[in-house]
Amino acid sequence: MSVTTPEDQLPCDLLIDGRLHPSTTGDRFTVVDPATTETLAEVAAAAPDDVDRAVEVARRAQAAWAQLPPRRRGALLVDVARAIRDRADGLARLESQDTGKPLRQASADVEVAAQYFEFYGGVADKLYGDTIPLDAQQFAMTFREPLGVTGHIIPWNYPLQISARTTAPSLAAGNACVVKPAEEAPLTTLVLGQLALDAGLPPGVLNIVPGVGEVAGAHLASSDDIDHLSFTGGLDTGRRVMAAAARNVKPITMELGGKSPSIVLPDADLDRAVPTITNAILQNGGQTCSAGSRVIVHFTRHDELVERLVDAFGRVVLGRGTDDPDLGPLISNAQLERVVGHLTDATGDAATVVCGGHPTHPDGLEGYFVEPTLLDDVDPGARVAQEEVFGPVLTVLRYGDEDEAVEIADGTPYGLVTAIWTRDVDRAMRLARRVRSGQVYVNSYGAGGGVALPFGGYRHSGFGREKGMEALAEFTQVKTVAVAVRPDEA
Ligand code: NAD
Repeated sequence: MSVTTPEDQLPCDLLIDGRLHPSTTGDRFTVVDPATTETLAEVAAAAPDDVDRAVEVARRAQAAWAQLPPRRRGALLVDVARAIRDRADGLARLESQDTGKPLRQASADVEVAAQYFEFYGGVADKLYGDTIPLDAQQFAMTFREPLGVTGHIIPWNYPLQISARTTAPSLAAGNACVVKPAEEAPLTTLVLGQLALDAGLPPGVLNIVPGVGEVAGAHLASSDDIDHLSFTGGLDTGRRVMAAAARNVKPITMELGGKSPSIVLPDADLDRAVPTITNAILQNGGQTCSAGSRVIVHFTRHDELVERLVDAFGRVVLGRGTDDPDLGPLISNAQLERVVGHLTDATGDAATVVCGGHPTHPDGLEGYFVEPTLLDDVDPGARVAQEEVFGPVLTVLRYGDEDEAVEIADGTPYGLVTAIWTRDVDRAMRLARRVRSGQVYVNSYGAGGGVALPFGGYRHSGFGREKGMEALAEFTQVKTVAVAVRPDEA
């Protein structure tokens, strides 16, 4: 195995009850380096029985975990944050190899993962309830209680960050977790489970069951023995997961895709906008749910914006993630085919290819690379402007007035992030109110590692909120207690 981990040893088995196990069937799946297509690891593929065992173990561990004083639980999560930072270099390298993303982006992901554990460690003992004034004869109050066992299905694009984003608030609230990482990139989630254990998290509280989506993921989603499911992934898979969870009436959080727009108003500062718009689509090869994949520009600024974007795209350096280029490979051949399919479809009447548009092999690397691609004069209804491409492909659309800008911005099934570029605060606030989007950024995009900012979708981008204090509502249930008090007998 060619991977160097923090301890020079990669956990490639299922982590259940604090110990590594092969799967009951002995099945394994191959994880490849997307820059080279070389094998990185052979990882145990959880069978349904393994998932059941992980849930059972989590159920037992959860009771004691929930009984710990919240301050103690919080302190342990802060210890996990420290352990992540102690191993930041090794984790970043592994994440970069496993996903193909540039090393500095992987390093940022590791830091954000630590911040999630720190943030939710800090709130574990601040999950207050309310007192409710009723009348002189009653005391009424609410308690925030854990749900029990929470299932977490993770995508391959930000494995460590999303594993931390969903498990840290759940653990802080007193739940135990069973995590199913994606088969394309499960490695840092496995290391996270191991280092959390080493940092003092009790065995069984955080279990990791890598495996095939249709087997391990589907079994977890349809389990009657979990109490909540947090799903992050694509729309079609999300629909299947919802149907499976519905049978057992399980609450779910759905973090799905996006087709997020940046609206460039006539007075926009392009010196600020262009680098951010470029990064918003090229970061992680465009394989980001909140990728800024559409620019909706006022016709008076169109030519200048396109010229500057062509210049910025032309300076992008492609390469292997661990060499820290600007743009790494896509995650897999399937993903490459999907992106190329969109590009083939878009050339013709639907769009003009201004730059890029083809697969490529920088430095002779065999992996799944695509040139940074700018598509102009795109029809807002074209497939490439409506569906998630999940590649380094930016579509440019023009608008005439504000109503048209909003119509185009909201004119896809999604609603995850919208950016507004203007110097006019009144217009910015007016538009921020109007657009149908879970997050709105004015003169910025994505706010980096904003772990405190609630995040989630409108419409087909999903429902429920992660990050910030809002996430705690997903991982707790409220009990109301009303106490009748005898009137004064005097
Ligand atoms: P995917 O839907 O193919 O897979 C996501 C996870 O679901 C994987 O762990 C996979 O193994 C599992 N899975 C597959 N089939 C399953 C089934 N039948 N039942 C249960 N689980 C199953 O998504 P992906 O290709 O890994 O990730 C890309 C998608 O994720 C994009 O659409 C992207 O927008 C979305 N995403 C959303 C967010 C967000 O926060 N909104 C973040 C990252 C990615």
